[in-house]
Amino acid sequence: MAREPLRDGHGRAIGDLRVSVTDRCNFRCQYCMPAEGLPWLEREAILHFEEIERLVALLGSMGVHDIRLTGGEPLVRREFPKLVARLAALEDVHDLSVTTNGFLLERDAAALVEAGVDRVNVSIDSLQRDRFYEMTRRDALPQVLRGLEALGAHPQVHPIKVNAVALRDFTEDEAIPFADFARRHPYEVRFIEFMPLDGDHAWSRDQVLTGDELRAIIHARWPLEPEPREPHATARVFRFADGQGRIGFINPVSEPFCGDCNRIRLTADGTLRTCLFSLNETDLRGPLRAGASDDDLEQILRDAVWRKELKHHVNDPGFVQPTRTMSAIGG
Ligand code: SF4
Repeated sequence: MAREPLRDGHGRAIGDLRVSVTDRCNFRCQYCMPAEGLPWLEREAILHFEEIERLVALLGSMGVHDIRLTGGEPLVRREFPKLVARLAALEDVHDLSVTTNGFLLERDAAALVEAGVDRVNVSIDSLQRDRFYEMTRRDALPQVLRGLEALGAHPQVHPIKVNAVALRDFTEDEAIPFADFARRHPYEVRFIEFMPLDGDHAWSRDQVLTGDELRAIIHARWPLEPEPREPHATARVFRFADGQGRIGFINPVSEPFCGDCNRIRLTADGTLRTCLFSLNETDLRGPLRAGASDDDLEQILRDAVWRKELKHHVNDPGFVQPTRTMSAIGG
């Protein structure tokens, strides 16, 4: 049953739901979590597949048709492809994608494709083995690249994007290798500015290497031409002037894209976040497990989304970093 489209108090229609299916991860990326990891959620605190499916179906009936599955690392959740298949079978899910660190992709690529995944983003912060290890605290680059290749064998998964978090005094040396990688492979490489969502709460503005700075490094070697921005897009995409592929820059700090934001997030423990940087969350797991009807849940969702933040305040004096870290929110 179709319901009224879900809108926020600024008139923006919500069309994109990011679902974190676990807070656990098999990597320890420096900009995300401490080497020892974080205290994981108890198993019972995590939404069951049926609960995720019910919320996705309900939001789908309210016009939220694009679903991205994230983590932590979603592929560490047991039987994850089964969840993908359940969501892919929902008539209101028009686009189903996954963000992964790629470590288990070689094992799961075929199962994910068979389950119905449409697009995949793979997070890779360096194409050099030692620097990859330095950033993720895992010697896993060869395995991740094998996973990417395994996924690349399935043309129905398109596009495949490679996301690299940009950090000052690290990513400058990755700009040309990644641009070369984007020119030689059918993957869309994007750089993402470092955001204040790290586990150590050590983020500072001077650690942000901006998209503009990276674009200048690449443009000096291979001239770039801008592509028109898609509605709700997070990335500024450029094509290589000589036709050898595209590359993108996601600049939430230096070039926020909040104006036409159509995204909301569901955390692994069942709270709704209306913005990546929300300081408030709305509990859905409680009402779900207390027997709330779909109409009850719809009202809770509408009230929460009506209060969706107009924009983030990362660049404003007095910005407060959310207590929940990126690993417990998902991309
Ligand atoms: S920071 Fe918040 S409002 Fe801005 S684009 Fe991200 S989720 Fe949307």
